[in-house]
Amino acid sequence: MSRPAVFFDRDGVVNVSPGAGYVLRWADFEFAPGIVEALRVCREAGYALVLATSQQGVGKGLMSQTDLDDIHARMQERLAADGAAFDGLYACTCLASDPDCTCRKPSPEMLQRAAADLHLDLGRSWLVGDADRDILMARHAGVPHTVRIGDEPPCAAVATHHLPDTTGLATLLAAELPPLTQ
Ligand SMILES: [Mg+2]
Repeated sequence: MSRPAVFFDRDGVVNVSPGAGYVLRWADFEFAPGIVEALRVCREAGYALVLATSQQGVGKGLMSQTDLDDIHARMQERLAADGAAFDGLYACTCLASDPDCTCRKPSPEMLQRAAADLHLDLGRSWLVGDADRDILMARHAGVPHTVRIGDEPPCAAVATHHLPDTTGLATLLAAELPPLTQ
């Protein structure tokens, strides 16, 4: 039996946005306000937790895959201590200009790979993101519920829910995530 997931963008959702740059080391990674509680709400409701992130800094040579893996291992360690670790981590590290890349947002590929790996029901899943490409990725993958952080409508990709920042995310998800019957 497949279960739904809540997909999370990373920069600007799980951690404070590095702006135009990249989080290149763990010291630069700062959890966004309320995000750990939001992840725990989803976990306790029975939803899988999946990270889907673009990390072009690897493709640009600003950081190595090992650097990225180290940041994610430390992130997972911290989240696990709070019962909120991700079940799957998916990162597109390609250059935006790479003509052979098939995974970069708004491609649905990362969500589809997660669905295959973790037996997820995309049609009952949610996504939390802070950019058009996040919301469009969800739409392309058939993920119907989207929470957009930061940008209020009108924005190019209007989500089903909008929040000014992550502080109210746990409350919104606690109220809106349909309870799972299984
Ligand atoms: Mg983002």
